[in-house]
Parts: sequence; C-alpha cells; structure tokens
Amino acid sequence: MELILFGTGAPPPHKDKNGPANGIFANGKIYLVDAARNVSQQVVKAGFKLSEIDQLFFTHFHSDHYSGFGDFFISRWLTGAKKPLQVWGPPPVKKIVSKMLDYYEYDIDLRVREGTHTRAGTEIEAKSLFPGDGFDVDYMTVSVEKGTVHGNVDEILSYRFDFEEDSIVIASDGHPTEELTRLSHGTNILLAHFCVPHMYDKYGIRNSFSDLVIGHHATAEEISIVAKKAGVKTLVFSHIIPPITSNGEAFEEISKYYDGKIIAGKDLMCIET
Ligand SMILES: [Zn+2]
Repeated sequence: MELILFGTGAPPPHKDKNGPANGIFANGKIYLVDAARNVSQQVVKAGFKLSEIDQLFFTHFHSDHYSGFGDFFISRWLTGAKKPLQVWGPPPVKKIVSKMLDYYEYDIDLRVREGTHTRAGTEIEAKSLFPGDGFDVDYMTVSVEKGTVHGNVDEILSYRFDFEEDSIVIASDGHPTEELTRLSHGTNILLAHFCVPHMYDKYGIRNSFSDLVIGHHATAEEISIVAKKAGVKTLVFSHIIPPITSNGEAFEEISKYYDGKIIAGKDLMCIET
C-alpha cells in the first residue's frame, strides 16, 4: 500500500501546499480521501488518471476538505470515467453531493446534447457513514470511527484502510479521542495533523480568532501520545496549523514528544507501508 499526499495545506491558498487531500494506493488501485483545492491537478501530477478513481471518502465538510470536489467530479467525467462515482462520508454528504450536481447540471446538459459525451459517469452513489461502520471496497477493508473532536463539527470521521497485512489510518482534524488510538493499533502509517500555537506569535499572525482555531486542532503532544499507545510504525504529518509553519518547525515540535519514525508530509509525497 502507499499513502499519497496530494495536498498538505489548509484553507488559505499557499504557494507550496495544495488543499488537504490524500490517496490510498492498494492492489493497483487509487482511492481518494477528501477532495480539496487543486486535487484534480495533483492526482494527474502524481501520475494517476482521474477516470480511474471510483471511490472518494470524506473526513468532514469544512470547505478546505471539499473545495476541489466539483472540479474532480466533472473532470473525472470529461476525462473518460463511465462508472458512477461512489462518495462516502459523514452527514451531510448526500446534501453536498446533491447541491454539487445541481451546480454542474447546465454544463452536463450542454455536452450531452452536443453528443460529445453520454451521461454515464455523471452518476454519484452517496452513502452516509457513521462511527463503528466497517466494509470492504474491492479487496480493501475500510473501518470508520469518530477519531477526533473538532470544534463544532459533530460529523467527522477517521478512516483505517487495511489491505493484506498492511494498513493506513487517516485521522482528520481535531483533538484525538480514545477511538483513534484503537483504530490506529499497530498500523503501518498514521497520517495526522497538529497545531503549533507559538507560531502565531513567531510570525505575528495572532488575531481574535487564533485561540478558537488553536482550540479546534490537536497538539503535537496529543498526536504523539496516540502514536506511542497505538504502536504505529510511521507517523506522517500534514495539514499543519497555522499553515505558515515550516516542516522543519513542525518536525521540531513533534520531536519534543515523539521519538519514533516521523515523516514531514510534502505535496506529492508517496509513502510506502
Ligand atoms: Zn476541519
């Protein structure tokens, strides 16, 4: 299996970091987790075809995690997908899908009437997921938990993907819960984010919302406790808050608490289990 970091950024556009989105590569197939800004471009840059992605998992619906959804959906169709796209996520996944389809209906009608495309590939099968769910997709097992507490976002999910002997856990945003430790038990890769509060002062960007943002995100210490307790083999970090934090600064922060293997995530990095 491989974890592919399509984007390691956060809500504001950043010169080196695209929006937070990841790929799981297992048994020769690529699966998408979140669909952030520029995800379609990043999938192509990583050497995959949009039309070969048939499954998309959302962790939660803060806009930075789905701002590339519409572009991914329509570009997947325009580049030859014929199968329905399966979209899984917490509520309100069905509502988000339905409104996104409305947004592109005019364009889809134009192209179908012109005869350059058929409607095949424009269907979406949306399915709501809840903590405790588990199911197989192709040859991969997917387990779902509420692994984090993220401000007022009640509907947020962490995912574990198992294929043969390997596994990858994607934690999502927020303070880890006990379920994240259980979900991550013995995993090859835990992908997690954290916040480095003193960067707001270092870079002079503290404002009236900073404490709220800091409060919505994990600390490096919290993530290191999960990684230690769960016995993860490799801890990968991405989506660091505030996004101005360099990978060196984030690495230094997590190294204060964790002495296992750490990889500082960069856009388009592929990490093998
Ligand atoms: Zn979020």
